[in-house]
Amino acid sequence: MIHAANDVRDLCRRALAGGLLEEADLVTLLSARGDAAEVLFAAAREVRARRFGAVVFLYGFVYFSTYCRNECAFCFYRVDNDESPRYRKSLDEVVSICRDLAGSGVVLLDLTMGEDPVIHDDPGYAGLLELVAAVCDGGGLPVMVSPGVVPDEVLAGLRACGADWYALYQETHSPELYERLRTGQSFAARIAARRAARRAGLLVEDGILTGIGDTEADRARSIAAMREAAWEQVRVMTFVPQVGTPLADVRPAADEAELLAIAAMRLAMPRSLIPASLDVDGIRGLERRLNAGANVVTSIVPPIVGLAGVSQAELDIDEGRRTVAEVLPHLARLGLRSGTVTEYRAWLAAAHEGVEVPA
Ligand code: SF4
Repeated sequence: MIHAANDVRDLCRRALAGGLLEEADLVTLLSARGDAAEVLFAAAREVRARRFGAVVFLYGFVYFSTYCRNECAFCFYRVDNDESPRYRKSLDEVVSICRDLAGSGVVLLDLTMGEDPVIHDDPGYAGLLELVAAVCDGGGLPVMVSPGVVPDEVLAGLRACGADWYALYQETHSPELYERLRTGQSFAARIAARRAARRAGLLVEDGILTGIGDTEADRARSIAAMREAAWEQVRVMTFVPQVGTPLADVRPAADEAELLAIAAMRLAMPRSLIPASLDVDGIRGLERRLNAGANVVTSIVPPIVGLAGVSQAELDIDEGRRTVAEVLPHLARLGLRSGTVTEYRAWLAAAHEGVEVPA
């Protein structure tokens, strides 16, 4: 059902006044179109401005191993896809890439890998921990690690090495849809891993995929679940069909559902960081996502070093369009600015303490 701007305006007012949005209210927001959608985006920007001022944090992304043992239906890097480029960067290469990224002005280094069997079959995950420790020591920036599902003691090890964040996306919080997307992987184990990460002292990012058979009700359920868990960072990304996968022929969705979900998350979870990913639509899609209430730019990738993106393996990377220098003019045009490392560290410290940083 398409909702009139007045319904949406009432819900936005309630959220701006600190009221709770029920799951049915979230469905209403996620169904907004036209003027109603603009009302929602404006409210999301207002919430962002109140909580974060004009500050947007820029994250560097290093996809250091594209090997994976899993068969996610949506993923270019699923184990049986011969079309995807496979590489595994050495520790020295990763440290050097991270140094360059740090010098370019990002405030966080996101170390991402598939569930690489070489790393996951290594007892104690010594190789992963060594790599994360080297980046934490050498990069001078906070670190996020996205290694897939790992044992609890490895999460504690990541924190001990100096990592601040663990990212693990559920993709959907509807079990039936999950089974079709993350084929052969436990729904409960993924949830348990995020909880274990929090117990280990890590901040946590969860995320969802849209344009993949999900409905407004599925997305509302996900937003409610992520709010209940109070994850410090939450994201939504539009599915991009990938060659060599079972979903290669799915018609790509526009980004409307993603933008509405960003805005609904901003209203439902005003304290959380919400990324605008360059990995879906490249630099051209950035302003739309920021205008929907995002306050982080992720997937900044250094050009020329042969690194891939996740859902867009090559988009804008070698052309150098996923860089800090390319992002800054877009922020300026929207009256936003990139946050400094000091500001980001202050936010992290408060998040670890469970308190709020004033904008
Ligand atoms: S989404 Fe992650 S876990 Fe799934 S196949 Fe792709 S790289 Fe592997």
